[in-house]
Amino acid sequence: MSLEHSLASVRQRIEQAAKSAGRDPRSVTLLAVSKTFPAHDVAHAASLGQIDFGENYVQEAMDKIAALRPDWPALQWHFIGPLQSNKTRDVAAHFDWVHSIDRLKLAQRLNDQRPADRPPLQVCIQVNVDDEATKSGVRVEDAGALAAAVAALPRLRLRGLMCIPEARTGTSAQREPFARLRLLRDAMAAEHGLALDTLSMGMSADLEAAILEGATLVRVGSAIFGARSPRSP
Ligand SMILES: *Cc1c(COP(=O)(O)O)cnc(C)c1O
Repeated sequence: MSLEHSLASVRQRIEQAAKSAGRDPRSVTLLAVSKTFPAHDVAHAASLGQIDFGENYVQEAMDKIAALRPDWPALQWHFIGPLQSNKTRDVAAHFDWVHSIDRLKLAQRLNDQRPADRPPLQVCIQVNVDDEATKSGVRVEDAGALAAAVAALPRLRLRGLMCIPEARTGTSAQREPFARLRLLRDAMAAEHGLALDTLSMGMSADLEAAILEGATLVRVGSAIFGARSPRSP
């Protein structure tokens, strides 16, 4: 399938799901996850009107951003992968969003390193909704305190919550963890007075379920760019 076709078909899926949820399709942002795919694929997607791109690996992303900025200065770059504290500087300097904040130290470093000539870095707290030992993300019970501390950092702008649930089959099973993230967001707004307008949830296999539960941003890779080959070390 051509990129043109697959991008159109993902946009169609988002529109359908939004309509079944009684939502305005424009309330859902499509984040095209371009990790492992070359800059020319990103440029092709950009030429088809795609603006937001997600990356997981710092060095790979730096190369792509440098290659694409001259021709595509308006693209929005989202860091969505696990982030080591010693790699925050490039992310603070070159990204527009970070979705994977799961500890205060990471947020503090990004805050300290965000260049003064750029607007505050937009961030989401990543929540380990299924309490999986192997997954990153803050525990559900610690999310409120972390969010309140992040919201106080002047060079960051806390936008909302992100999750990567365990794989589930079928829309109703897939909806369950997304519903919990939405309720957590509502509880945090009530308890900590935080205005969180973003729920970053849903990927190629479960974006419909996420949109039914209020996703405002879906992160879609393989359904747009095709299967990823395993990453070489
Ligand atoms: C790779 C990745 C995605 C995209 O996954 P697909 O199944 O290819 O759509 C979304 N979110 C995160 C955090 C990822 O690492």
